[in-house]
Amino acid sequence: MRDRLVGQDTIKHFFENALSAGHMGHAYIFAGPQGIGKSTFATQLMKLLLCVEPKDNNPCNVCKACYMFDEGIGIDFVIVDESKNSISIDAIRDIQKQIIIRPAYSKRKVYLIKRAETMTEEAQNCLLKTLEEPPEYAVILLTTINPMSLRETVRSRSVRVDFGRYTYEEMGRILELNGIEHESKFEYWINASDGIPGRALELAGSDSIEELKNCVYEAIGKCLESKVGYIELVELMEKEKQNIGVLLDLTEGYLRDLLVIKTGANPSRLINTDKKDIILRNEKNFTINAIINAIAHIENGRKFLNQNSNFTNTVQVLALHIQEECNK
Ligand SMILES: [Zn+2]
Repeated sequence: MRDRLVGQDTIKHFFENALSAGHMGHAYIFAGPQGIGKSTFATQLMKLLLCVEPKDNNPCNVCKACYMFDEGIGIDFVIVDESKNSISIDAIRDIQKQIIIRPAYSKRKVYLIKRAETMTEEAQNCLLKTLEEPPEYAVILLTTINPMSLRETVRSRSVRVDFGRYTYEEMGRILELNGIEHESKFEYWINASDGIPGRALELAGSDSIEELKNCVYEAIGKCLESKVGYIELVELMEKEKQNIGVLLDLTEGYLRDLLVIKTGANPSRLINTDKKDIILRNEKNFTINAIINAIAHIENGRKFLNQNSNFTNTVQVLALHIQEECNK
């Protein structure tokens, strides 16, 4: 794992220790924001757990288990990644039926349920039965942006693993590993993504970012000018539905820059140095509390959108909250 995954050293140590002591548990909840790398980590861990001849906590890449995993075939592992709104009881029932059959070519059977918060109530109840009496060879990994949305009984039978933000250097290495070249915006992508690689990669992949940034600054300007300015922000979010993640990153970047100035830090620490004038002009319209509240509202909005809540309702509520925090 060490060779393949950047950062998250505490979590790596945790699993390396569990493996070398033979204390690997049966169920883990990987918790953290969207884009932090929970699935990437879980996938690497899966391969390591399946490999029959791991070396220095890395999969051997030679054994049959490694080969089957790379090819995405075989019955010793299952990845549940529901692209629809929810993970149904049927998907969990399939796991339940399958998990009791002993592994075919590995020492373990490993199951990964992504976006576990989208499991229906029935699906969670069904999973609970397996968590109560897991076969000794089974490991179940759940990833979620919102662990508290899982039933208490599911949580109490799993070990929670929290993913932390990456450092600047780690983010740089992750971007490089993803084939992103150093260019003028490299630093900006890292600074604007708040230690979350998925966000930095999204920013790097968006070609019309400057244009979108201008629109965001304009819309927030409207919120400051008028009590109904938020309507423009709603319209922008609806128009940019496909880029909503990037748009929220840009809005949050603006707010975090206001915070830099509010807390008396040097303007050279701004994320959006190109917007320094606007930020310096507008910081007096916000209190520190209002900025922190607005950032919290954005994070909440992200959560709702990731849970497939109604898009229009979510962005309307979010824009109204941002409006409320302006001129407070
Ligand atoms: Zn192997």
